[in-house]
Formats: sequence, structure tokens, C-alpha cells
Amino acid sequence: MKLRSYWLDTATPAGDFRRTPLPRRADVVVIGAGLTGLSTALHLARDGAQVALVEEHTVGWGASGRNGGMATTGLAIGYPTAVKRYGQARAGAMFHAYNDAIDTVEKLVAEEGIDCHFDRVGKLTVASKASHYDGYQRAADMLADIGHEVRLVPPERIHTEIGSDAFPGGLVDPLGAAVHVGELCAGLARAGVRAGVSIHEDCEVTELRKAGGARHDVHTSRGVIRADRVVVATSGYTGGALPWLRRRIVPIGSYIIATEPLSQELVDEIMPTRRVASDTNRVCYYFRITPDNRLLFGGRARFAVSVRESDAKSGRILHQGMLRIFPQLKGKRIDYCWGGLVDMTMDQMVHAGERDGVIHSVGYSGHGVQMATHMGSVIARMIAGDEDANPWRGLPFPAVPGHVGPPWFLPPAGAFFRLLDKIN
Ligand SMILES: Cc1cc2nc3c(=O)[nH]c(=O)nc-3n(C[C@H](O)[C@H](O)[C@H](O)COP(=O)(O)OP(=O)(O)OC[C@H]3O[C@@H](n4cnc5c(N)ncnc54)[C@H](O)[C@@H]3O)c2cc1C
Repeated sequence: MKLRSYWLDTATPAGDFRRTPLPRRADVVVIGAGLTGLSTALHLARDGAQVALVEEHTVGWGASGRNGGMATTGLAIGYPTAVKRYGQARAGAMFHAYNDAIDTVEKLVAEEGIDCHFDRVGKLTVASKASHYDGYQRAADMLADIGHEVRLVPPERIHTEIGSDAFPGGLVDPLGAAVHVGELCAGLARAGVRAGVSIHEDCEVTELRKAGGARHDVHTSRGVIRADRVVVATSGYTGGALPWLRRRIVPIGSYIIATEPLSQELVDEIMPTRRVASDTNRVCYYFRITPDNRLLFGGRARFAVSVRESDAKSGRILHQGMLRIFPQLKGKRIDYCWGGLVDMTMDQMVHAGERDGVIHSVGYSGHGVQMATHMGSVIARMIAGDEDANPWRGLPFPAVPGHVGPPWFLPPAGAFFRLLDKIN
């Protein structure tokens, strides 16, 4: 079994950027080469800016190369909760921003000729409990009111969607898409280089020093760049060089396993529609079929920060969960197991804006494949002066109480969420 992301293992890297000479100055320095940073750099370079993209590890090393590869509609908090919090008009606009985000991925993939298996297979949400299914009709009606059509899958038809007896019903959203995120990251990096972005891997930002207005000296492990603008795209990997942002993000480990390639008959039995899927528990499972017919199965198996040992332990827990849902997979080999950090915020909302002349976009809370890519185009428009392009403009962004270093509070938080799933 490989303790490495299936996506990164099966993608063709865009190149080796570990020794590209660092420029002394740039119009914009973008920190972090995940989907947010790659897309931001590409959009800015297309507009003619001189962009340096600096990454502590390698392109796609963070959550962007480690996720479930599901570009789905909807906010992390769910639409009914968003309506309660923000009112129907704002919640509707935020919900539609996620649809726009999937369109952005589709458009970029087509424009830049990125071969990343982007496919609008649709999203299947399976009810973990009958009471969850009962709420689907109300959610579907609320979404219909803002022009978004989803389809209920009643108990008697659930096997047309999934070969499992674990779920009393489901909901299909046809706009959701599957994507090979390793190839998406590599493709965006290639497109960026074509547009003139200079990418610098193995280049950790250690400090930002103000140099007048929005201008900063960006200190890195490879030297200093004077930047007219700085964009921070470090998500759940935000560290001590960016203390204000780090205090606002809870990095939560999420883990994934992938089976050996399955026969077409078995795939047709367990996931006949090949949709991207998740259940409705707070501590949920998500799963999909990969382009080479593996079942990729993920979840927050343990509330811990992702490191190799905790990834392997989580993999064993996930394997048991997978067999409870799909007993047909007993005896199938697990070829991959890995983990990554999800950037949760207190309100589970995206936060994008400017503070002290530095622009950030973080807090995708497990829904970033599409939104991180989309925010690249939004940030380029914000830098061009169009603040209204930002769908998350003006949301209060409170610090996490007591969070000043590594997140000590994950195990008790995990126990609390599991208890809620049992009661609720
Ligand atoms: C296991 C898992 C499953 C997920 N599944 C899904 C899914 O199916 N669908 C979905 O929509 N979302 C999913 N997500 C969330 C999604 O992957 C993220 O929201 C998204 O990739 C965030 O992209 P990003 O570019 O903002 O951050 P990242 O991809 O995390 O990139 C941040 C980068 O910043 C770099 N960095 C950090 N600090 C520094 C520094 N000081 N100097 C230089 N570089 C630095 C890091 O090395 C990293 O490469 C999942 C996340 C995880 C972890």
C-alpha cells in the first residue's frame, strides 16, 4: 500500500520548479501552489501581470492534490442554514457562486486543454438516517425557489444509484462533477507557465515585511522578492509566517483510501451511475470511482492532524467503514492511503479579502476543488479593482478562541461531533 495521494501518484507533473531562479521583484507574489494559488497566478498573468508563485513543497502538494476530486454544488453549511444566517437573497447568491465555480473549472479545463477527466457525473447525497431523507423534500423545494433543480431518490429506487443497503434514500444534483485533481493542478501550472508565471517550489515564505502601501518584501528560504501585491493561498497549511490568518483557520485531518482497480461488473454494481457521493453525517464519508475503476473512499476517520502514522491508522478505520457500506469489496486490496488538511473556519464559510495590504482566500471547509479554482479568477478581478466580484465580501472573520499554535482541540471536537451524529 502506498502512503501517498493516488492523484499525485498518477499525474504527470508540469515540471521541476525547485531551482527556478527567484526574481528580485514581481507585480504579484502568490504564496501556495494549490488550486487557489495556481488559478490566481494564471488569471493575473493572463491580464499581463508579472507573477511569482512560491510554494514550500511542490505544485499541488497540499489539499489540492489530496482531496476527493469532487467539484460539487452547495455551501459547506448547507443552503437552509445559510438562509437562516444570511437571508434568502445573500444565501442564494452564495449558493449560485458554487455553481459558477464548477463552470469556472469546466471553462479553464476547456480553454487550457487540461486532460483531467472532468466529467459532470452529478452529486449523490445519501441519507445516513431516515430522518435525514425526510428533510430532503424541503431542501429541494427551497432550492427550486432559487432556480436550482435537484432530484430525490426514494428508498425503493436507491439501488439504481448505489449498491448498498446502508442508506434509506438519496438526493441527486446533476451539476456536480468529478475531476482528476492531480492532473488539474499540473494542467493549471503548465497554463500558468505558458502565460508567463514563474513557479518556485521548495520555497517557503518565512516572513512578510511591509515596504510601503500594499508593497511587501517577501522573505523566503530561497531569497527575498519585492512585491507590489501579495496573495496568500495557504489554506489548512497556513503557518507561523502568517499568524493573523493561522489563528482563524482550524486545520482538520481528512483521510482517503483507494482500492485496487475493480472489474467493470463490480463498479456497475456498487456505483452504477459513477456519481461523486457523500453521506449526511457530520463526520461523513465521501466516495467515488476513479478514472481507472478504483473506489476512492474518504472521511474524517480520526480527529487528528494528518501525518503519515495517523494517515495509516485512519486508513484502517476507513477500510472498516467502506466494508460496512460495500460488503461486496471484502478481500479487495487497498492500494493507496493518505491524508490532508481541511481549512475549517469558525463559520465554515470561505473568507476572501484584504488585510494590511495582503490579499487572502481561505476557509473552503472541505468544498474547495471548485471554489479555490474559481477564487483565482475572483482575486484577479479584485486586484483589478472590482471588489464586488467577491461573493464572500464583508463576512466577519473571527479568530478561533484559544488557537495560537498547533490545534490541541481536535480530539475533543471530534468526540463532540460523533456524539451529535449518534443523537441526531
Ligand atoms: C482529504 C481531503 C479531501 C477533500 N475532498 C474535497 C472534495 O472532494 N471536494 C472539494 O470541493 N474539496 C475537497 N477538499 C478541500 C479542497 O481540497 C481544498 O479546499 C482546496 O484544495 C484548497 O486549495 P488551496 O489552494 O486553497 O490550498 P492547498 O491546496 O492546501 O495549498 C496550499 C499550499 O500552500 C503551501 N504553503 C503553506 N504555507 C506556505 C509558506 N509559508 N510558504 C510557501 N508555501 C506555503 C502548502 O505547501 C500548500 O501546497 C478536501 C480536502 C482534503 C484534505
